[in-house]
Amino acid sequence: MSEEKVYIIPCSGIGKAFGGMCREAAYIVVNELAPEKAAIECLPLIVKGKKEVIDALKANKIITIDGCTAKCAYTDVRVAVREPDAVFMSTDIVKKHRDLKPEKDILILGENAKVLSRKLAENIAEKVDDLYIE
Ligand code: SF4
Repeated sequence: MSEEKVYIIPCSGIGKAFGGMCREAAYIVVNELAPEKAAIECLPLIVKGKKEVIDALKANKIITIDGCTAKCAYTDVRVAVREPDAVFMSTDIVKKHRDLKPEKDILILGENAKVLSRKLAENIAEKVDDLYIE
């Protein structure tokens, strides 16, 4: 965990497609778009205060992704670590693409939700680039 990374923290979003889109976008960033620069971390471990996780986050840049106005990832990271370096909301990408209404499926995202997640991931990957070279 000592390697320099931009940490991506999606909300858990268990019961909502908008939350699932946050996780999907995070996976696309860390697995496909910026695997050398980005890493994902588990929100419950942050809330639990696991020392190695908190130390890694304190030493690196942080991006949170939330699926609704409760902003669980943002709020929990701010309390347990510090203010994130960048924040994203999956609802913002939906507002920008009104033609792509996300389906309600949660376990497996629908086609529109997948397309929206990728668009969100592309925006996040651009921010990862910015933060990584700062
Ligand atoms: S931000 Fe909203 S969607 Fe995400 S975990 Fe919290 S309540 Fe669920």
